[in-house]
Amino acid sequence: MSNGVNNTEQSVLERSRKPHDSLIMMVDDEPILMAVIQELLNEAGYNNFKAVKDSTQALDKLEEYRPDVLLLDLVMPEVDGFEILRSVRSNADTRHLPVIVLTSSSDAATKLKALELGATDFLAKPVDSSELVLRLRNTLTVKAYQDQLAYYDTLTGLPNRTLFMDRLKWALQHADRTRKSAAILNINLDRFKNINDTLGPRIGDALLAQIASRLTDCIRMDAYINYSDRAELSSSVSRLGGDEFSVILHEVSRVENTSYVARRLTQSMIDPFYIDEHEIFLTTSIGIALYPQDGREIDELMKNVAVATEYAKQHGRNNYQFYSKELNAMSEERLKLETDLRKAIERGQLEIYYQPKIEGASGKVSGMEALIRWHRSEDNTVSPADFIPVAEQMGQIIPMGNWILNEVCRQHREWMMDGMDPLKVSVNVSGYQFSDKDLCNSLRIVLKEHNMDAASLMLEITESVLMGDVEGSMQTMHDIKGLGLSLSIDDFGTGYSSLSYLKLFPIEELKIDRSFIVDLPDSKSDAAIVRAIIALADGLELDLVAEGVETEQQMRFLNENGCGTIQGYYYSKPLTADQFRQFVLERNAA
Ligand code: C2E
Ligand code: MG
Ligand code: MG
Repeated sequence: MSNGVNNTEQSVLERSRKPHDSLIMMVDDEPILMAVIQELLNEAGYNNFKAVKDSTQALDKLEEYRPDVLLLDLVMPEVDGFEILRSVRSNADTRHLPVIVLTSSSDAATKLKALELGATDFLAKPVDSSELVLRLRNTLTVKAYQDQLAYYDTLTGLPNRTLFMDRLKWALQHADRTRKSAAILNINLDRFKNINDTLGPRIGDALLAQIASRLTDCIRMDAYINYSDRAELSSSVSRLGGDEFSVILHEVSRVENTSYVARRLTQSMIDPFYIDEHEIFLTTSIGIALYPQDGREIDELMKNVAVATEYAKQHGRNNYQFYSKELNAMSEERLKLETDLRKAIERGQLEIYYQPKIEGASGKVSGMEALIRWHRSEDNTVSPADFIPVAEQMGQIIPMGNWILNEVCRQHREWMMDGMDPLKVSVNVSGYQFSDKDLCNSLRIVLKEHNMDAASLMLEITESVLMGDVEGSMQTMHDIKGLGLSLSIDDFGTGYSSLSYLKLFPIEELKIDRSFIVDLPDSKSDAAIVRAIIALADGLELDLVAEGVETEQQMRFLNENGCGTIQGYYYSKPLTADQFRQFVLERNAA
């Protein structure tokens, strides 16, 4: 297969659409004949061939490979072809499998017997290449046509319930194999019956077809859903019947992703549908069940996803509901967070705090880190660790990052005008921002706007972001450096830096992650790591900052071992702009 997926791992019905992808299995006691046939088939473009020499294995292999067509020799030692054919026809899973029997052409009685047992077609031995290809093509074409009738909905062209169930079975097996979750989203059209009754079934059908294509576009275009380059993991819409559609999501790692998909599907219905002179508005109620959390068996899952869809209907339609109550609560909470966050800037709820960096030897403030705070309500300030990842997922981090840069530069300018010591300010930059091609341009604009000296601005980028795409990072870092800014690696020690790259990065500073500081000086291993990082920074001539220093002992250990700069609650928590100015006045005057 072109996508490199092992065929046996794929749903059988999936393959049935493209005859050349069909899996052909052959049972014959002559390996040389099978090798010849495989070669002939390869030349004709059929590349999925399984040869089974031992006829006693034939039935097991049929179960394992689930081929699209079986080439079967009749005369074999031990179990002969007639016996295999008989078993194939009596097994529910293989009853309809096309079987092409290989016979010596003259033997009429044998042919008749095979026909009675249910052979689909015959192929004369010795095998003629064009006859082989012809018979195979005919058989597979008929099968593909039958599959189309059996597995696809004629009105919308979508997979029908049978194919959906087959895919679901595969999805659950895949989830078990990979120990990941799967999700079923049942999409029910609100008040479709009403529309059908008033406007008539012709319009109803046309509407269903339009809905199907909208849902399909929504799923297909969404890179977020079809994140995988493995075709069998991509999602698609099925029509289960009437006004009911369904989507299976694979490898669901976070529940929010599922609600995100449900939301996108809901939104895809917002624009009206136009059929003849009618403008039709329609909404959906979506139920969601997760495997294995909401049921370990297909029946149970299907029952529970129906219950969830019913919740959605009772909940006033045009919404989605999880089967699990806890997930519903979580999902509502998250949606509210997103809505509030979207408005946070315009409501003036974001504020930048500044945490001093202290030079150990003199005890003076040598710089600061800008840290954002979200005052969501009077008594609720949300930590950036909680809302920055949400902003990233919502695609809000770029505007928010620009707002932060702008605010920091404005504040810095104000301090300078007030005569405060010129201190370098560090701003955290998220991975999304760092890989945004407009970053340098935005930086240039903001520096100019506030007439800020680029040398006073430092960007902090976490180690894991830099190491994600080293080549790209290197280029971006050089571009930023070219503007006159300096760069710092944040959370150092947690991101598996390759030391050889570190040497090449155009950076000025490393920040030792707080996790190595917490247990100092008692933890021997942390002490050893911190000493090693200090030596490394020394060797590479980089400035070093220890983050999260809370106690005098930690501070003393760092000082004695030569870590010059300290940031942490021991000296100060992050402060408002006014408090920070006061702090600098008091410390640096002394
Ligand atoms: P970070 O850049 O590693 O920032 C250091 C965090 O450690 C800050 O948490 C700071 O308040 C906290 N901290 C400082 N000293 C101590 C200490 O002695 N003890 C303890 N327990 N904590 C200390 P904060 O402000 O909650 O920020 C968390 C993370 O959120 C930051 O980690 C940074 O990755 C991100 N962040 C903060 N502000 C921004 C921002 O403006 N933009 C972006 N993209 N990310 C930000
Ligand atoms: Mg930082
Ligand atoms: Mg950090």
